Amino acid sequence: MIKDRTIKFLRCLFNTPSKIPVEAQIEITNKCNFTCPMCPREIMDVPLTNMDFGLFKEVVRKLSGVKDFILTGWGEPLLHPNFFEMVDFVSSINPDTRIRFTTNGSLLNKDVRKKILSSKIEQVSLSIDGYSYDSHNPLSPQHNGHTESKGIIENITALASERNSNRRPAIVFQSTVQNNNLKGLKNLVEFAGKNGIDRMNLVRLDVRGQILNPKSKIRNLKRPSIDEERQIYRELKNAGRDFNLPVFFINQQGLLLQMAGHFDRLCFRTVDHVYINIKGDVTPCCILRKMKTGSLLKDDVEQIWNGKIFKKFRANQLKVCKGCDALKRRHHH
Ligand code: SF4
Ligand code: SF4
Repeated sequence: MIKDRTIKFLRCLFNTPSKIPVEAQIEITNKCNFTCPMCPREIMDVPLTNMDFGLFKEVVRKLSGVKDFILTGWGEPLLHPNFFEMVDFVSSINPDTRIRFTTNGSLLNKDVRKKILSSKIEQVSLSIDGYSYDSHNPLSPQHNGHTESKGIIENITALASERNSNRRPAIVFQSTVQNNNLKGLKNLVEFAGKNGIDRMNLVRLDVRGQILNPKSKIRNLKRPSIDEERQIYRELKNAGRDFNLPVFFINQQGLLLQMAGHFDRLCFRTVDHVYINIKGDVTPCCILRKMKTGSLLKDDVEQIWNGKIFKKFRANQLKVCKGCDALKRRHHH
């Protein structure tokens, strides 16, 4: 992991992308059974549909050589009727590929868990923003994030306990850092530690939807200041030690990102990552999902990645991405 991060950092610092993308995130569906208050997909005008399975196969064939597949767009991947066939198809094309996806946990019933456990999925990321469920003393969630209902908590506990001794797939919590939610997050650290969750990734509350569409009245999301974020991170990291749970903060990636920041190189994404939208278009990331740099129905990924449009984007990235602080150490208010 340290080696991978160092390579990413050097690529980012010297603006030298990998030969082909290492990581491809595929928007297999934008349908979701949740309506989280902080989700920007509606104001981003994301079409709420599934990717056609035939198109998915064509896309995956063109992504030969990519090592890491993330089968998640702006929705709940388990809603796609062909989800497990997609997983099998990716691993049949390239058995060494790493496959992961992110879920809100609501559909992890017994049957789905069984399929996950017998598949080549290496990591399940669970979007969960706190732990307020307590059968004796239910608390009201103090956050704008993904709900943690009794059913979801039971699904996660079951998935974690049904894994074999290799603890595969890895289970990672992805939790947004929000105001007034330290207690919920501390409870979540305890729950994660006690149930053998492998890691907790804290992420900054996403307000990019508001930036993409300033006229939107989207819920006036507020997030902790940088100093508050740091404090929350420190406390949760310390709490994690008590339960043997590694806690990371995606936006506080330590020295490497600070150094890159001095050179205005603030996003690691565009050195080795592509996003494939529902139409099979290649774009730089999920936020820029409309910024087509090419189509996998016409070209293969190497041509697109090294093509004129992608190069132009990289050259103008600071301007194009202005306002996005998704991966920055600093953030805007
Ligand atoms: S679960 Fe994820 S995709 Fe669905 S509404 Fe919530 S944030 Fe959006
Ligand atoms: S929009 Fe944000 S996440 Fe996407 S490439 Fe630009 S800086 Fe990176």
